[in-house]
Amino acid sequence: MDKLVYMFDEGQSGMKETLGGKGANLAEMTRIGLPVPYGFTISTQACNTYYDSNKKLTGTLEDQVLQSLEKLEKRTGKKLGDTNHPLLVSVRSGAVFSMPGMMDTVLNLGMNDKTVEAIGSLTNNPRFAYDSYRRFIQMFSDVVLEVDVYFFEQYLEKHKEKKGYTSDPQLSADDWKEVIEGYKEIVKTHTKRSFPEDPKQQLFLAIQSVFDSWNNQRAIIYRRLNKIPGHLGTAVNIQSMVFGNMGDDSGTGVAFTRDPSTGESLLYGEYLINAQGEDVVAGIRTPQPIHTLEKDMPDVFKQFVETCQRLESHYGDMQDIEFTVERGNLFILQTRNGKRTAQAAIRIAVEMVEEGILNKKEALLRVDPDQLNQLLHQRIDDTFEFKKLVKGLPASPGAATGQVVFDSDDAELLHQEGKKVILVRPETTPDDIHGIVSAEAVVTSRGGMTSHAAVVARGMGKACICGCEGLKIDLKNKEFRVGDTVVRYLDTITIDGGTGEIMLGEIPMIAPELSKEFQILLSWADDERTLGVRANADNPEDAAKALEFGAGGIGLCRTEHMFMDSKRIPIVQQMILAESFEERMVALDQLLPMQQSDFTKILEVMKGHPVTIRLLDPPLHEFLPDKEELIVDVTKLQITDPGSPELKEKEFLLRKVRQLDEFNPMLGHRGCRLGMVYPEIYTMQAKAIFYAASDLKSKGINVNPEVMIPLVGDVNELKAMRQVVVEAAKEVVEETGHEIDYTVGTMIEIPRAALTADKIAEEADFFSFGTNDLTQTTFGFSRDDAESKFLQHYIDEGTLAENPFMVLDQEGVGKLVETGVTLGRQTKPTLKTGICGEHGGEKSSIQFCFEKGLDYVSCSPYRVPLARLAAAQATVSNNTK
Ligand code: PEP
Ligand code: MG
Repeated sequence: MDKLVYMFDEGQSGMKETLGGKGANLAEMTRIGLPVPYGFTISTQACNTYYDSNKKLTGTLEDQVLQSLEKLEKRTGKKLGDTNHPLLVSVRSGAVFSMPGMMDTVLNLGMNDKTVEAIGSLTNNPRFAYDSYRRFIQMFSDVVLEVDVYFFEQYLEKHKEKKGYTSDPQLSADDWKEVIEGYKEIVKTHTKRSFPEDPKQQLFLAIQSVFDSWNNQRAIIYRRLNKIPGHLGTAVNIQSMVFGNMGDDSGTGVAFTRDPSTGESLLYGEYLINAQGEDVVAGIRTPQPIHTLEKDMPDVFKQFVETCQRLESHYGDMQDIEFTVERGNLFILQTRNGKRTAQAAIRIAVEMVEEGILNKKEALLRVDPDQLNQLLHQRIDDTFEFKKLVKGLPASPGAATGQVVFDSDDAELLHQEGKKVILVRPETTPDDIHGIVSAEAVVTSRGGMTSHAAVVARGMGKACICGCEGLKIDLKNKEFRVGDTVVRYLDTITIDGGTGEIMLGEIPMIAPELSKEFQILLSWADDERTLGVRANADNPEDAAKALEFGAGGIGLCRTEHMFMDSKRIPIVQQMILAESFEERMVALDQLLPMQQSDFTKILEVMKGHPVTIRLLDPPLHEFLPDKEELIVDVTKLQITDPGSPELKEKEFLLRKVRQLDEFNPMLGHRGCRLGMVYPEIYTMQAKAIFYAASDLKSKGINVNPEVMIPLVGDVNELKAMRQVVVEAAKEVVEETGHEIDYTVGTMIEIPRAALTADKIAEEADFFSFGTNDLTQTTFGFSRDDAESKFLQHYIDEGTLAENPFMVLDQEGVGKLVETGVTLGRQTKPTLKTGICGEHGGEKSSIQFCFEKGLDYVSCSPYRVPLARLAAAQATVSNNTK
């Protein structure tokens, strides 16, 4: 018979797939002798069986749960539903990958009209017993019976009003008894049944609800965002309850063994005296910082610090620990590897190497390259004078400007309209996930650094400020007040998640720099990686940034942007409109020195590192005025000023634009097809490169230009264009008397080029895979239309797992890349190969390029650090396979 349920002492940390993350860690902590309340875990397989059996618990599972319950009862000396020594349990979800707050939990299960009395007399605290019972009814009804908590809250408010109370602690045991009766009535009204009194029935219903919550809306969104497969299922942990709300010698809290925001090695967390676990995470009461626990409960604090150290060194990673103190006794309820900002991830990895906990290779694997984006984002320019409005807790670093919204649905709608918004809420709950995703940043007036908003925002790398109590939010009127200042819906604010400060209006930002630890980690990455990393840059500033971020060269310098300069565009248009070769040459002669100065600057910045310069690629009509606008202008002039020279000029332009008009410009007269028809354009560009190189060389500056021909599909195109470049070089060498080292290569971005790469390699010194166009042409998806028209639908429906313009489609496009490399190297074993499409800055695509033996990846300068780390991870994982 399949084993579906495991007691905590039957598992260990390696069993995450079966027990989920939480269950495996509870088992591990039990195994190493930590004070964990005993319990058992229902496996993820049981969840899948539940779904396979039409959402019914199987007899096998029910039997195993009952047997495990018996063992739990034996160990604790308590019994579920017993009127003398009742056992109370928590029922919690626990997936293989942590999905904080996304699924359901029930606490205090086992309470009914009889057990509540036993608990009251056992604890000598009937008030506590009835308070726990009403919490249980409320939670169970919400999660399992699907009765909205609103009805219970409203009822409680009314009761307090009636009695003239202002807060919960004023309610006596009798008050709670009365409330409980009211709660039961609410349940009856909404479910047409009495509240279930049988604890075993409660247990099975709760297990079923936790399984169901695997597929609730927010869990599905969270999984999609975090690429967690839907077939994994969740485990369910059933654990005997301990109570943090038994008085002032009890409490509950969460702590990280290092600061999850900065990575600093200090105990970091918060707790609440006389409270239950959910009170801390929900962020409804603002908790105390962990260090004051030393004053409140010195012995417990000492034991807790030791436990934290033990857990961190046991797992070799920063831990996120939940604990409860019941009448002076410490219990550990959960430990897991803590979520952290990129900044913290790097600092922790580097310091753990210094502390001897990790080796360098392990440290490299500890930082997710995707997270690095957070560090490469802007921050507030503090040289600028600005007034701070109010300060909260700095829950997740980064700066952001946006329009204020108070509701997650508004955030989503405005985001879809292309607006930047900042979500401001009293607190967030897991139902706000879509709002947090859509917002630039999140601000809450309540809650601590481990509240839902803080944890989720940090995980997403969004700036977040929590517990900003100076902010009085009025959700009804959609505004917040700080003293006399009123900030209304859609007003613009700027926030700094690193300091917790909120400012009115927009504040200038500055570009990021790499921290000391970041540089150290990247230097280790460079020691490991074999894959080169270059940058896509087409101006000297980007080239300098690329070098600063550690690029080994430029893998793609697009030359068309140089044509777009406002001073140049008239000359470019003159070149396009020329009716003869001679006329075109007049324009090209003017463009040559301009291009030369562009290349000089870039080659000079790059100091002898390779610079791949791609000759003109886009269709020429992109440099001409828009056809629709011209038609309007011409029509207007025909009416208002029929004989004017302006009309003549516009009519001529329109004729030319119409001549150049194409049905599918991306498949039309672009790339090397321009050079084939107008070789003089490529000659001009090649000469500009060689004059620049020659000039720099004569000044003793090293240069390494690589001339690249775009959109080649047939070797004869490359042969002809190579000839044009070689001729240009010859002319320049003859004229200047300086020899120039250069190479000529091609983009591989048309499937035919990949399939005939053996022939193409005869004419190429290097290949650079243009996976943007290669994806477009392999799928037949227009790269300008697909994403806005149908691609999202494909991804939502699961037709495609990823957007192939962002993540390389290894199965199809990747096969062409692999074919291109293999065939190319058959002809030229030393052929240099790289990738310069957007995929060159995406971690799984980088891994693929490594596996297929490419020499380098090239990506935007800001992604260079990410690519260096991803390239190192590819090598390290390959060597440890
Ligand atoms: C490509 O097609 O992948 C490429 C890098 O060129 P572009 O994006 O300029 O077409
Ligand atoms: Mg291209």
